[in-house]
Amino acid sequence: MSPDPSSIAENLHAIREAIAHSGRDVQLIAVSKTVSTESILAALRAGQRLFGENRVQEALAKWPGLKTAYPDIRLHLIGPLQTNKIRQALGLFDVIETLDRPKLAEALAKEKEKKVPLPECYIQVNIGEEPQKAGIMPLESAGFIEYCKHALGLPVTGVMCIPPVNEAPAPYFALLASIARHHGLKHISMGMSSDYDIAIKLGATHIRIGQGVFGARKGGVL
Ligand SMILES: *Cc1c(COP(=O)(O)O)cnc(C)c1O
Repeated sequence: MSPDPSSIAENLHAIREAIAHSGRDVQLIAVSKTVSTESILAALRAGQRLFGENRVQEALAKWPGLKTAYPDIRLHLIGPLQTNKIRQALGLFDVIETLDRPKLAEALAKEKEKKVPLPECYIQVNIGEEPQKAGIMPLESAGFIEYCKHALGLPVTGVMCIPPVNEAPAPYFALLASIARHHGLKHISMGMSSDYDIAIKLGATHIRIGQGVFGARKGGVL
């Protein structure tokens, strides 16, 4: 079932109202993974310009044409980045939210040496220390952030996390916000469809909302 375009516009409106009501400066990233071009166009017509995708390949198939039609679109990569996809990712994304390991940081630094312009990078923190999830462990995050910023000179400007499902997210959001503050990083990407209100209260500057904008996704959560 393809969602009705008016419901996408209404969903965006409701989330923007919630942000306005919070009184905070929060950007809404509409997460468009698996979403049809038709639905993305409905969001664009409703004024949305900031989007998130979790797969480089899928994003390459969907976004270059749309970016030509709407040059003020901004795209965040919110899924894993393999080092062999870096070049393609650098050409498409405005922010890489998933800088999560030294090998990737070093590969990005090599591109920088070759004078390839790098987008802003956020450090992905495995905030619940879950073995199946990507991200640097909280206790290793200080060293990794310093390494990326100072040793490699990467443009690190924020942090990002996905807290454990089926647990209260507040303590995890608070921990991520404290890591950002500690390192003077101004962007905090946290909060999804089910918990963005809590994330905003705890200091999110970017919320990543998929199903809450585009309707239920087939085939599960991520
Ligand atoms: C899919 C996804 C989201 C959005 O999830 P919803 O439950 O659809 O809001 C947010 N962040 C990441 C990293 C995702 O992969």
